[in-house]
Amino acid sequence: MDTKLIRAWLTECARVVEANRDHLTALDAAIGDADHGVNLTRGFAAAQAAVAERQPDSPGQLLTTVGNTLVSKVGGAAGPLYGTAFRRAGKALGSEPEVSAAEFGDALEAAAAGVRELGAAALGDKTMVDALAPAVEAFQAAVRAGESMDRAALAAAEAAESGAEATIPMQAQRGRASYLGARSVGHQDPGATSTALLIRALVTVVDADST
Ligand code: ADP
Ligand code: MG
Repeated sequence: MDTKLIRAWLTECARVVEANRDHLTALDAAIGDADHGVNLTRGFAAAQAAVAERQPDSPGQLLTTVGNTLVSKVGGAAGPLYGTAFRRAGKALGSEPEVSAAEFGDALEAAAAGVRELGAAALGDKTMVDALAPAVEAFQAAVRAGESMDRAALAAAEAAESGAEATIPMQAQRGRASYLGARSVGHQDPGATSTALLIRALVTVVDADST
């Protein structure tokens, strides 16, 4: 993976988040304050602008730029959490121009660790962790099995999508949705849903790159 591929991932993230803005906002309207889709659309647009301006020349620097932008431009819970995830991934990759699947897996792991440190959410708390943690695990398992980047990304996206769906019967223990108590049951978590979209976006760009 090179800077061009990571830039394509960012572009695809911005596209899918905007395409799903109303869906994410509707999910957040049910158990939060109806701003998740708007927050992320604004954040990824700002991240694209920052990358266009600063022209980071390694995957790690690009992800760090995205993280810094999300932290500074997106309010609420998701901005700092996603911002930390991208920053940690960027830091893990350093300034190497080319990143292997194994290195990318380690960066994903660093991202997930950052989210868990900042948000203190455990699996089952009905947050983005319920999509991110299984995705990272699936990615790493695929890498350990010797799978290529595209297969590892696909495994991660499928795990994230199942993880997001699995939040429906959960009662929220963290974030704004937890204020609803039992009334949070029966709705898919917006942050877990957006995490699955971002990881599916990776599959899209990796597949386009290998064809
Ligand atoms: P806010 O809740 O501040 O309005 P958003 O609506 O943008 O922020 O994001 C809500 C999402 O953030 C939730 O659906 C959940 O996935 C995620 N989230 C909230 N709190 C936490 C936390 N402590 N740890 C992990 N994820 C969290
Ligand atoms: Mg919200």
